[in-house]
Amino acid sequence: MPSTRSNFLSLAATAMVAAAGFFSLAGPVHAADGKLDFYWVDVEGGAATLVVTPEGESVLIDSGSAGGRDPGRIVAAAKQAGLKKLDYFILTHFHLDHFGGIAEVAQQLPVGVVYDKGIPDADPDHNPNDTRFPLMIKPYREMKVGERRVIHAGDVLPLRPGAGQSKLKLWCLGANQQFVSPADNAPATPAADCAGAKSKGKDTSDNANSVVMLLEYGDFRLFIAGDLTWDVEARLACPVNVAGAVDVYQVTHHGLAVSSNPLLVRALDPVVSIMSNGTQKGCEAETFATLSALPSLQAKYQIHRNLRTDAENNTAPDYIANLEKECAGNFIKLSVAPDSRSYVVSIPATGHQRKFATRTVRLPK
Ligand SMILES: [Zn+2]
Repeated sequence: MPSTRSNFLSLAATAMVAAAGFFSLAGPVHAADGKLDFYWVDVEGGAATLVVTPEGESVLIDSGSAGGRDPGRIVAAAKQAGLKKLDYFILTHFHLDHFGGIAEVAQQLPVGVVYDKGIPDADPDHNPNDTRFPLMIKPYREMKVGERRVIHAGDVLPLRPGAGQSKLKLWCLGANQQFVSPADNAPATPAADCAGAKSKGKDTSDNANSVVMLLEYGDFRLFIAGDLTWDVEARLACPVNVAGAVDVYQVTHHGLAVSSNPLLVRALDPVVSIMSNGTQKGCEAETFATLSALPSLQAKYQIHRNLRTDAENNTAPDYIANLEKECAGNFIKLSVAPDSRSYVVSIPATGHQRKFATRTVRLPK
């Protein structure tokens, strides 16, 4: 019947127009593959983690430092991912190696919603003699973005869940040292472990206030907590394991030994660790030992080779994105399969890639 045929044609045309619109927004790379992708951009000892959802939405968590290099690498990674804008930016805390790059990124790519803990008026580390902060934060405060929101424990990003088989959820476990209430079935950490744990003293810097995020896609789980520090980390493990076991641990605070409290890292029980370190920053001996001692861990990735004299604190060269000081700024990529049952970690510039099975047992041993 002619009317049915013309209806069909107009439907097909509508679908094509919709598809074209989608591609122009999200780029062809992620529009239809159903994968969840992460890019750890090399920001030389800062942090910048780009997430691209199966629906083509994007979230940047932290943005490296100002000054061209880091924003340029972030924008390059975004373009490689087929993005023409960043839908969300999450700032974990108010240190330059995390907030510094986003104002320059925002000049090159539209940024939608910015989440942070609320911009402080004075030095976030509470040093009354340090008066630089208002000037340092000015570009961040004044950058043009779609919207600004203050993030709190329990907040869930309004990402499109997608029509695929795996459900996507990016949510905030804590900020400003306030954490979500643990689930009723959250496993207890042995009381003796908690009671006997080492303290590293109260941290009055903004590191301790870092935003803690958990990303879940089907069975896959990834933990990312900015520069959260030792004694606050313990609260996510004691008396109960708040986050539960994960597949991937973004090593907190670049691998500095004031973070990655073994209580928390053992509670997370990760299979893969990814460290955003610099040639001289992070990847410290104590952290490296904590990671190496984890029975669950199958692979340790580093953005940079540690080029200090303690060269023994390095993973195998294949698992390092940038081996030399004068580097190309290679990123580490992780792609979760549409069914969430496996994921591939790769360093596209070197050709390294390795596939991992998403864990099925969620309670740590
Ligand atoms: Zn940092």
